[in-house]
Amino acid sequence: MTNKLSTILAHGGQHQGHHEENTGAVNAPPLYLSSTFHQKKLNEFGPYDYSRSGNPTRTQLEKTIASLENGTNGFAFSSGMAAISSAFMLLNSGDHIVISKDVYGGTFRFVTRLLAQFSIEHTFVDMTNTNEVAEAIKPNTKVIYVETPANPLLQITDIRAIVALAKKHDCYTYLDNTFMTPLYQQPLNLGVDIVLHSATKFLSGHSDIVAGLAVTKDASLAEKLYFVQNTYGAILGAQDCYQLLQGGMKTLEPRYSKSAASAAIIANHLSKHEAVEHICYPGLSNHPGADIHAKQATSAGAVLSFKLRKDVDIDHFIETISIPVFAVSLGAVESILSHPATMSHAAMPADEREARGISDRLFRLSVGIEEVEDLIQDLDQAIQS
Ligand SMILES: *Cc1c(COP(=O)(O)O)cnc(C)c1O
Repeated sequence: MTNKLSTILAHGGQHQGHHEENTGAVNAPPLYLSSTFHQKKLNEFGPYDYSRSGNPTRTQLEKTIASLENGTNGFAFSSGMAAISSAFMLLNSGDHIVISKDVYGGTFRFVTRLLAQFSIEHTFVDMTNTNEVAEAIKPNTKVIYVETPANPLLQITDIRAIVALAKKHDCYTYLDNTFMTPLYQQPLNLGVDIVLHSATKFLSGHSDIVAGLAVTKDASLAEKLYFVQNTYGAILGAQDCYQLLQGGMKTLEPRYSKSAASAAIIANHLSKHEAVEHICYPGLSNHPGADIHAKQATSAGAVLSFKLRKDVDIDHFIETISIPVFAVSLGAVESILSHPATMSHAAMPADEREARGISDRLFRLSVGIEEVEDLIQDLDQAIQS
């Protein structure tokens, strides 16, 4: 068996040469649209009994993401937030978490509004500053929660440094790997305990489904996560498991490698553009986290953000740009342009946003698989007009 990710991905996790047994179907296993499973005898149980607890199509997806992340157990959830919140359900009241202040907005809302209701405390830190993280750890800290690269400024956290701190203080590290995917960053290999994904983004890649994944290689965490998945029940349905695996993940490598190559070209172009005040992309050597990122990931990814100068009419920019869709989300075959100040970070007060560098003039671009020359031309004409 190969361990090259692009080969595993292309076969949707099937061993090469091993197709669906009864028919030889290439897209296997079939889509099992069955909520319940026949039991042959009173005290004899098959591998499946009820689809919340397990479904063969979901099993295939879960095994595939586990092998891609070099983990032992994968779990598929109905959204990225369902995966993230289910992982937090391993905590007990009175526990404390240390979490990046640049975390995804939905995770911020979950931690501050829902976990707080169950007396689970949190401290927000600048995760790129290891000393600040160390100072935030308390005797009841159970989890350090990392997102790298982070949104929307692509801040980079040193995964190895955070894992070392977590191990020293006997707490777990959770990492949201949505931006890199296992193709380019494998946090379990660096000592992270639970890897989380919004599979809605690059893994599915077609802006068609909402899905979440979690992976671990710790047997006790796997058992607890399975218990939460089955008990809380925020599972991914069989149709979406099939769609994610067949319609999405099989083509992750060619999609993402093209998008990342184009993103590097666009970042380089915009970094020299006179109407661009500032650009954030971990592949540019002047990015503050570039060196650390290169030590823990094998691509700078396909998401970048840039701030337009004051004399550019940003309303006109949005109305004139024609190729990218102007929307929330990222990681799709079509380029997606977003405006963090009014979209992902709208709930944050304006002065706090400005202080964090999320100005009204900041845009985030998730580069798709269009012709890069077309994208550059489109950006240029929209900025200039
Ligand atoms: C989109 C996203 C999420 C949430 O995932 P959903 O599938 O929308 O629930 C979490 N983390 C990151 C980094 C994301 O981009």
